[in-house]
Amino acid sequence: MCAIEAGKRGRKVLVLEKANKPGKKILMSGGGRCNFTNYHINPNDYISHNPHFCKSALSRYTQWDFINLVKKHGIPFHEKTLGQLFCDHKSQDILTMLLSECQQANVEIRLNTQIEKIEKVSDHHFKINSDRGDFHCQSLVVATGGLSIPTMGASPFGYKIAEQFGIKIWPTRAGLVPFTLHVAEKERFAELSGIGFDSLVSNDQISFRENILFTHRGLSGPAILQISSYWQPGEAILINMLPEINAVEMLKSAKKSQPQKQIKTILAEYLPKRVVELFLNTDLAEIKMAALSHQQLEDIAKLFANWPLKPNGTEGYRTAEVTLGGVDCDAISSKTLMAENVPGLYFIGEVLDVTGWLGGFNFQWAWSSGWAAGQVV
Ligand SMILES: Cc1cc2nc3c(=O)[nH]c(=O)nc-3n(C[C@H](O)[C@H](O)[C@H](O)COP(=O)(O)OP(=O)(O)OC[C@H]3O[C@@H](n4cnc5c(N)ncnc54)[C@H](O)[C@@H]3O)c2cc1C
Repeated sequence: MCAIEAGKRGRKVLVLEKANKPGKKILMSGGGRCNFTNYHINPNDYISHNPHFCKSALSRYTQWDFINLVKKHGIPFHEKTLGQLFCDHKSQDILTMLLSECQQANVEIRLNTQIEKIEKVSDHHFKINSDRGDFHCQSLVVATGGLSIPTMGASPFGYKIAEQFGIKIWPTRAGLVPFTLHVAEKERFAELSGIGFDSLVSNDQISFRENILFTHRGLSGPAILQISSYWQPGEAILINMLPEINAVEMLKSAKKSQPQKQIKTILAEYLPKRVVELFLNTDLAEIKMAALSHQQLEDIAKLFANWPLKPNGTEGYRTAEVTLGGVDCDAISSKTLMAENVPGLYFIGEVLDVTGWLGGFNFQWAWSSGWAAGQVV
């Protein structure tokens, strides 16, 4: 996006990419359909030590600008849920669009080029050593992304460049990532693998109402991925598996209206049967509503509506969608994305300490920050 905008202004642009193909993350994103933006982009849906930083770029190049570009290229798309926009066909449509815009703007892309060293010769003059020779430039834009999916070539190189120029790096960790469970819980929930349902997942800071999904390693699903970005090791999260109802009231009224029914039958109207049976122990599951005391009903409601879970950890960068932390935004101009103390050096996209929620927010940050830098490089 930065290359396109700079190229349109008549700048001579060279993109150096170490991979053998451009835009690999675009291709693998959104389950192959690229969730390229969201109707409801809001700076509050980004995590950063400087929560104001993302506002400028997001407000100058918005989701509507990107949607217009997608429309201009005739790419069919749809809203899946919660404003999330996906390609009807495949992610390749977005990549093809960007490459065609690059071509029109005379942007040159060199693949299979690993950058090894950056040297500042003077202000607005950098020398780049790569395994394909040296390059000189007036503006150097670092768009190396985060650490997620190391098998796709993710590397800490962008952070190293920042450090080389005295720019602070906030500690990095995996975000939008599934949780792993402690051995006992992993074994207990193994039989639920593949089951997903609507839940409200919370911690001290925030709540997310979306699906959770039991996996053979632990817990995933959008609500879990979202809260993982707000989770610190050792903390517990609270899961309400019955977010639509007041569980105690529902059970009390079921006791009156359906006293002969077993508790597991009542709960199976709201949750998958296997989940109900696993959370209630066998003796309890078979008891008729009439035989349960109010205290028991309250305890049962709590089991499902107030499930405290202490994850063992996360699946880490291997499966994380994003990297939290990164280049300190206080050292960067929010308007131009240039390092305040290094004229000509820019940082855009995920390498910065700006991490979006699940749902197209991270690509929108990549487009917006790239666009903003592209106006000035
Ligand atoms: C599985 C998965 C699915 C995702 N799905 C979505 C989604 O649907 N919607 C959404 O908004 N976000 C999604 N994301 C997040 C999104 O892909 C990233 O936030 C976004 O790609 C960041 O863009 P970027 O340009 O900053 O970095 P990247 O897209 O990571 O690009 C960085 C590029 O720099 C190259 N590079 C790195 N080091 C060097 C070096 N030393 N020399 C040369 N080149 C180098 C890399 O090869 C790479 O091509 C997903 C992420 C993953 C992992």
